[in-house]
Amino acid sequence: MKKYFLMGIFAFLSSILAQSALAQTAEQLTDKFRQLSDEVLPTPNVYRTASGAPGHKYWQQQADYVIDVTLDDDKQRIVASAKIKYYNNSPDSLTYLWIQLDQNRFAHDSNGQKANFASTKPKADYGILRQNLYQKTYDGGYKISAVTDSGGADLKYIINDTMMRIDLASPLRPGQKMNFAIDWSYNILDAKIIRARGGKEFFKEDGNYIYEIAQWFPRMAAYSDYDGWTNKQFLGNGEFTLEFGDYDVSITVPADHIVTATGTLQNPKDVLTSTQRDRLKKAKTAKTPVMIVTTEDAATKLDKRAKTTKTWRFKANNVRDFAFASSRKFLWDAQGYYQPENGKTVMAMSFYPEEGNPIWEKYSTQAIIHTLEVYNRYSLVYPYPVAISVNGPVGGMEYPMICFNGPRPTLDKKTGKKTYSRRTKYGLISVIIHEVGHNYFPMIVNSDERQWTWMDEGLNSFLQNLAEEEWETDYPTRRAEPYQIVNYMKSTKQVPIMTNSESILQFGNNAYGKPAIALRILRESILGRELFDFAFREYSQRWKFKRPTPSDFFRTMEDASGVDLDWFWRGWFYTTEHVDISLDNVRLFNVNTKDPEIEEVFKRVKDAERGITPARLADKERQMRTDRFPELLDFYNEHDKFTVTNKQRNKYTSLLKGLKDWQKDMLTVKSNIYLMDFSNKGGLVMPIFLEVSYADGSKEEIRMNAEIWRKNAKNVTRMLVTEKTVTSVTVDPYMETADTNLDNNYFPRRIEQSRFELIKGKKRRDMMKGFATKLKSDKDDDDKKDTTDEDK
Ligand SMILES: [Zn+2]
Repeated sequence: MKKYFLMGIFAFLSSILAQSALAQTAEQLTDKFRQLSDEVLPTPNVYRTASGAPGHKYWQQQADYVIDVTLDDDKQRIVASAKIKYYNNSPDSLTYLWIQLDQNRFAHDSNGQKANFASTKPKADYGILRQNLYQKTYDGGYKISAVTDSGGADLKYIINDTMMRIDLASPLRPGQKMNFAIDWSYNILDAKIIRARGGKEFFKEDGNYIYEIAQWFPRMAAYSDYDGWTNKQFLGNGEFTLEFGDYDVSITVPADHIVTATGTLQNPKDVLTSTQRDRLKKAKTAKTPVMIVTTEDAATKLDKRAKTTKTWRFKANNVRDFAFASSRKFLWDAQGYYQPENGKTVMAMSFYPEEGNPIWEKYSTQAIIHTLEVYNRYSLVYPYPVAISVNGPVGGMEYPMICFNGPRPTLDKKTGKKTYSRRTKYGLISVIIHEVGHNYFPMIVNSDERQWTWMDEGLNSFLQNLAEEEWETDYPTRRAEPYQIVNYMKSTKQVPIMTNSESILQFGNNAYGKPAIALRILRESILGRELFDFAFREYSQRWKFKRPTPSDFFRTMEDASGVDLDWFWRGWFYTTEHVDISLDNVRLFNVNTKDPEIEEVFKRVKDAERGITPARLADKERQMRTDRFPELLDFYNEHDKFTVTNKQRNKYTSLLKGLKDWQKDMLTVKSNIYLMDFSNKGGLVMPIFLEVSYADGSKEEIRMNAEIWRKNAKNVTRMLVTEKTVTSVTVDPYMETADTNLDNNYFPRRIEQSRFELIKGKKRRDMMKGFATKLKSDKDDDDKKDTTDEDK
């Protein structure tokens, strides 16, 4: 009984001990390599497979549009009517349809306005106040005048902010289609005052407008297998996702306007002169851009306003949106780009006012063609007949086949000369590459930006960087190299990449920079170019003209590369952890030979190395008692504690007898054994890359996988066996991993050289002196100080 009782107590105690040990382990170590599909990715189904491809029952809706639109140049208004054919390809019966009314964001009572918040600081740019005042007077938003069925009867509808629901008398069954029509108008906003994706720009010197018209018609909202109808209102950031379809659009404008749009011009004889048509024909096979409308052509029209109108008709197939631009100020150049991949020629074209030159005629069309060349190689072959870049009020925005790009040189009003900064030049080339690049993501690979901005901005920025790097040596890329994201990764106010578009903090870094650089790291330092490029291309091919979600991207990249990247997606896309790997220690060892004749000598040397304290040193000179009475000395004074005994020798001999030959060989290995201790201070698990320097002057690179952290994501030790002597070790010597703190990347630590700033104290205000200063007239303006920083 007693015995059992004790055993019981023991079992009880040991279970408590085991539990507390378990609790401790669980608290310290989380498996950063656990699978995403167990926790956060949606369960695969017949629409989306576990491999990341569209499933065998994948479906998506289709919407075709025939639109007549008039651009009223006097009132700067859009008046239009559309016939929409909607195809229900889903397995569901639909009792209502939802339609996007993005212009309603600019209505006075829009959700976007209601959700507008200000900075807590009592200061803002002049433009913010101007924008605020403009919004009070600008009568924005759609005026819907009719919603009718194919027979002309009114359809029941309700407008809910930037969306409209049409209620159907009978459900639209799977496989059915329906026709309906909408008439509407709206006032075009001044895109120089309100930052928008389309609008007007007024040139007071000649009294003309440039119009960039986008998100201008009621567009079918997306209905998808993962989200049903889009129910996220347009607040201003999360752009959109739409359905593919065919467009036939007739655009009526003043007769002296030049119009460019998504799609191919159907009636060039009605709207272009024979000279312009000849030039276009020549441009198709030209080696450099050809002017279709020259500076002189445009200049003659600027002060003679046409009283008549012309209608330009464009058709576009399999696009998810339609935009256009119109102005009498437009110059126009074009060059055909023959795509060897599909044997088709794409007309690359640019439209810009004279104000955009000299940089627009020099760079725009070249940048379009360059984008097609590079993106075709990495993703999919450009499928459309035209690729267009327009200069107007919009800083940078993409639509199928056409994009709007803002940068222009600066005109010195006194001298009449134009100059441009380095930032303007490269900003123009970069924004054109970026916006043309959006044709691939999300205009063709139709990801949902209302939900996930990074899916098009991040992927597109990644390819933009590759294209920029092929433009010229040392192109000043902005968010390409891992070190360029370090400050953001360290910052405290941030959210994971996998955050809805409207809630993202630090938009550019979160949705553009971080995903682009994460993919760069994946390509260059984790998968390697061959595996990455194959997988990325596979994703593009699988999802062109389809609608992928994040899991489809994550799964395809793993499925096609054969590499489990769940740890990478988890760390970079689902957390705000950063990379900071510290090399804490490098320890040197040699094999313990077990031979007492060797080991005791080693111990004696180590003991002597411990040094002698000043106090003991002083004692050395002193006469000792044993000096005076030598009879006090004995055996232990003759033999120090490292003296080898026969007992030790016998033990060694019997040890050797018990070892196999190869084990004996191991005891004689002379190599240096280094143990390198790393700690993960940032949280993000990443590969460890090392450069080891040796005493003989040679260097060695060691590359370890991220999986080195799989058992312990906080601390890990690596063994290095070498004949050589290590003098220093550097972690991430080529700065490949976005390591946020380089100080702890060196063993031994280094002293960094930098600059010590001296500051001059501010002068006190002398009111008496200021009062007596001469008052300047307007003419004295010349000696006004130029306070702008010189552009380097
Ligand atoms: Zn973009």
